Amino acid sequence: MPQENAKIRPLFVVPNIDEEDEKFDDDSSDEAICKICFGTGLEVVAGKGARNCECRRKKAHSHLIERAQLPKRYAECHFHSFKVFNASQERAFRYATRLAMEYPAVDRGLLLSGTVGVGKTHLAVSILKGLTERGFSCLFYEFGALLKNIQDSYNSISKTSELKILAPVFDAEILVLDEIGAAKPTDWVRDTMAHIINSRYNDQKMTIFTTNYPDERGSEREETLEDRIGVRLRSRLHEMCRTVTISGEDFRKNFDKIAPLKK
Ligand SMILES: [Zn+2]
Repeated sequence: MPQENAKIRPLFVVPNIDEEDEKFDDDSSDEAICKICFGTGLEVVAGKGARNCECRRKKAHSHLIERAQLPKRYAECHFHSFKVFNASQERAFRYATRLAMEYPAVDRGLLLSGTVGVGKTHLAVSILKGLTERGFSCLFYEFGALLKNIQDSYNSISKTSELKILAPVFDAEILVLDEIGAAKPTDWVRDTMAHIINSRYNDQKMTIFTTNYPDERGSEREETLEDRIGVRLRSRLHEMCRTVTISGEDFRKNFDKIAPLKK
């Protein structure tokens, strides 16, 4: 898909450097001094003036990537490494790239739904990376890991508190919650989920979810997302996100359910 790849390029041109600048003033001493700006952060262009040096952009980006807390196993995930095998994946890819490029001029986040291995997390991670490249602050959490961190914080020996774990989850400008519905839905899990999702909803912050659970029951034994998270939360997610179903096999089954892209 050469056209789609061409669209991704602008993500590597990054604004919003100024806000990050002061954060790097104190830690620049232990690194080699930049040969372009000699550590000033400004590159002098002969006959034209000065502009922000590339090294600042790179530092700002690596700082944002660090703060996003992406698991190492997703290091290679980005839009350019996403493999498209069917129309539902192509469509999801378009929604994802569009979101990464047009944020904050978007009305909703994304709920990427589909079975294991169709590329949901790959796309969610790619959105997050694209947004950090554009200078936005993001956070990634696998939902089960987040629940475990919260539970661990109840432990008296633990040096952290529930609020300390949750504050960045509430505050992140863009949050990816991977694998929602995967945790066994006890009352505590549902309450915690509701707390997080409602807080982000009330603050109008963009959240991107992935889930293995479908909306439509494929067979009698299959659980739906609603079974896993409850009716009220499922409907809250509808308000917060566009649901995009990615299929690994019969993509035509899900294709018609996805609303057409607005031009
Ligand atoms: Zn420099």
